[in-house]
Amino acid sequence: MWTRAQIAEDLSTLGLLPGSDVLAHASMKAIGEVNGGAAEVVEAFLEVLGEDGTLMVPTFHRTYADPADRRYPPETESELIQLRAEVPPYDPHKPASSPLLMGVFSEAVRKHPKAFRSQHPGLSFAAIGAQAERFTERVPFDYPLGTHSPLNRLYDRNGQVLLIGTHHSVNTSIHLAEVWANVAYIHRSAHYKLETGEWGTMAGSPECSRGFGKIESLLRQSRILKEGYIGNAPSQRMSQRQVISMAMAMLEGKGAALLCIDEDCRWCTLARRMTATPDVSYAPIV
Ligand SMILES: [Zn+2]
Repeated sequence: MWTRAQIAEDLSTLGLLPGSDVLAHASMKAIGEVNGGAAEVVEAFLEVLGEDGTLMVPTFHRTYADPADRRYPPETESELIQLRAEVPPYDPHKPASSPLLMGVFSEAVRKHPKAFRSQHPGLSFAAIGAQAERFTERVPFDYPLGTHSPLNRLYDRNGQVLLIGTHHSVNTSIHLAEVWANVAYIHRSAHYKLETGEWGTMAGSPECSRGFGKIESLLRQSRILKEGYIGNAPSQRMSQRQVISMAMAMLEGKGAALLCIDEDCRWCTLARRMTATPDVSYAPIV
């Protein structure tokens, strides 16, 4: 069983410095058993980062999302109507508690008494520390992982990204590179039930990230990845700016570079078609 002190030591060994701003994607399952659980891993981060540092995590969820936008949407119209009726209106004052897609570590950050959370019905972030409020305040509804998003604010601060027992498929910062590279598929939309109970159309839906793993070997070759262990979890630390720069170079060469290869992936199949014909205007399928 790992202790908070051991996790803090591992974070320091990986090169996390006091005063850093870091976006962490962590799997507690990969770290192994920690005395006190995910909350103690959060405390280990705060201990290493100190008063001037900031810990941020994605807290994405689908509570208010349109069931038609799922990877596998309902097949019949009647099922869709029923599922849509069951979606509650977005309540910005009641952070969704489940089902979170991001795991127990993110949940432990979100529930921390000093945490701030950005107000977005689906693609929100939680942060603790010196920049927490600034990173999460006044975020845009459209292009939620683009310019003016918490990701962009981390970029402005020259922040770090940590993958702890997770793969680049969760390396959310790459979505910011998709926006800045202006790939054709980034302008697609998704739908959320708003506070009024009406469905809102959000432009700039980030969608599938299963192909992001293709960046890893390039980052390693370029010595952008600092690798080590947090508990039992193979982990990587990297400069967010360097990841975004590499991802943009890949996307500007070939717009489909970071799409997944799953033939059944409706998002990447469509995205591939769009990048092949960038001059054809695209009408969102509702
Ligand atoms: Zn895909």
